[in-house]
Order: sequence, then structure tokens, then C-alpha cells
Amino acid sequence: MYDDNNIFARILRGEIPCKKVYEDEHTLAFEDINPRTPVHTLVIPKGKYVSTNDFADKASDTEIAALMRAVKKVAALKGVDASGYRVIVNTGVEGGQEVPHLHFHVLGGRAVGPMTVLK
Ligand code: 5GP
Repeated sequence: MYDDNNIFARILRGEIPCKKVYEDEHTLAFEDINPRTPVHTLVIPKGKYVSTNDFADKASDTEIAALMRAVKKVAALKGVDASGYRVIVNTGVEGGQEVPHLHFHVLGGRAVGPMTVLK
């Protein structure tokens, strides 16, 4: 069940400000409020999708393609497409997802290390 009052739904409605990085018909990207790396941008679909599961089940091919392409556009806009970056999509309770609107974290601007920091 999608929660219309989750923080990213409120950002999409313009009720809460964000530092916008990129926007198109299907996608919005904005800076994470608590950046873990010099580049930490969130890329979200404009549609009401809770998670990876929800998006894969219900989104159109156009929306799915738009989100993936937006990730690369954001990496380029932030200047990390060539140097490299990490994309994280936390999904559900055990995946550590806090905000129940699908979001891709784009992290970079320094070497982010091995993908082994699990605790
Ligand atoms: P999750 O743990 O759900 O994968 O990530 C949620 C992310 O949303 C966190 O990195 C957190 O810093 C970010 N976040 C939470 N509230 C806000 C907000 O109001 N504005 C922005 N820009 N980011 C937020």
C-alpha cells in the first residue's frame, strides 16, 4: 500500500523543498539531505511505487527505462559517470529501506570501497 504522505511524495508535490538535480516526465532526482559521500543524489520515479518489487510489477516499460536512464544522466551531471559511482536501492525491511517510495541512491565523488560493509 502506497503512503501518500511519505517524505518523497511530499517532495514530488512541492510541499517540501529539495535541491533538484534532474527532472523529466517520469523521474525526479535531488540531493540526499544527509549525504554519505561527496556525491549522493536520489533518483525517484514520479509514479507512486513503494519499492523495487512494486516498480518491477506495476511500472510501464517507459517508466522503468526512464529511471535507469536518469541514473546515468545524474551521474553525468554530477561528474562521476567516467570516474565511477555506486547505485544502491534498499528494498523492504531487511533491505534497510526507510522511505517507502522507490529511490536509487547515486553515490560517488570518491572511491566508495568494497561492497562489503554489511552490519
Ligand atoms: P533509504 O534508507 O530509504 O534507502 O534512504 C532514504 C534516504 O532519504 C536517506 O539517505 C535519507 O538521508 C534521505 N532523506 C530522508 N528524508 C529526506 C528529505 O526530507 N529530503 C531529502 N532530500 N532526503 C531525505
